[in-house]
Amino acid sequence: MSKDIKDRFGRDINYLRVSVTDRCNFRCKYCMPTGKFEHICRSDIISYEKLLFAVSVFAELGVKKVRVTGGEPLVRKKIGSFLRQVSDIKGLEEVTLTTNGALLEKFTSDIKAAGIQRVNVSLDSLKPERYKHITGGFNLEKIIDGIKHAQRSGIGPVKTNMVVIKGYNDDEILDFCEFSAENRIITRFIEFMPVGNFSEWKEGNIMYGKEILELIKTKYEVKEIKKQKLSGPAQNYELSNGAMIGIITTLSNHFCNECDKLRLTSDGKLRPCLLSDKEIDLNDALEKQDREALKAAIIEGLNIKDKEHKVLSEKRDDGYKRTMSKIGG
Ligand code: SAM
Ligand code: SF4
Repeated sequence: MSKDIKDRFGRDINYLRVSVTDRCNFRCKYCMPTGKFEHICRSDIISYEKLLFAVSVFAELGVKKVRVTGGEPLVRKKIGSFLRQVSDIKGLEEVTLTTNGALLEKFTSDIKAAGIQRVNVSLDSLKPERYKHITGGFNLEKIIDGIKHAQRSGIGPVKTNMVVIKGYNDDEILDFCEFSAENRIITRFIEFMPVGNFSEWKEGNIMYGKEILELIKTKYEVKEIKKQKLSGPAQNYELSNGAMIGIITTLSNHFCNECDKLRLTSDGKLRPCLLSDKEIDLNDALEKQDREALKAAIIEGLNIKDKEHKVLSEKRDDGYKRTMSKIGG
């Protein structure tokens, strides 16, 4: 029987984000640095066998929900069979996926076969030219077709993630509220974080959750939805046009006191907090497939998990060691 694990501040930890690769077919402006970018060396990417072993140990300790992410998870070879195997791990209540959507249509049947219902798709603009500019040349129509195909196949609810960048795509917030109602998609608006393309990040580009909500209220009546266990970091709202939306205020109103997450990177590091470079190397225990050593390393990770992040007060000159594509969001 699975137990509940807590960190040193008594928070229940039940959610693991698993990054299967740092490779990506996109080059989103806010996520990856412009210019030369070093990927994790291929030989350091951990095998599916080790990933599955790791997840089974996390599940034994009490993790109930796993989100598969990347880079772009769907570009890793044999991802379909990995999704099925991870979904079979005892103790997990839910496996979900975060993707840029470019390969969603191709992998819909694998996602369905794995029993994955909840899929999040990054979608930062509904304007084809702007979408191309943000992603490094991708076709918006193909992404929307992929989402619709997944929905028709019974996958849902689909959520889209929009990183709101002031002066860049904030003029589309109300369009997304319409899009959301028309397509039965939950749109989540995310505050722009200084992880990834740090040289491009400026505090003046953040549109805080409060401002996003104020803008939405100029057009719609807004009903706050009560948060539920395992419901994720967003504060959700129902709008008078029928749209369901969420706002993720990682920076302005962080939810660190209710953080239930750990992250496993594709090079085998346990990252207890997205916004802290502290990591525990799990490779030794993974190499030996040593359950007890791995549990001990995970517990060490729980003991270094910070109480809360200090992104806005800490003022880092160099951002974080990893880009978001090397963490998984
Ligand atoms: N490639 C997949 C995708 O784009 O959905 C999964 C990995 S991506 C790193 C995970 C999430 O991180 C995406 O929703 C993306 O929008 C978000 N993200 C990346 N860089 C970010 C930043 N600087 N601030 C806020 N969110 C960011
Ligand atoms: Fe790739 Fe996702 Fe980062 Fe965009 S946000 S570059 S799709 S990892």
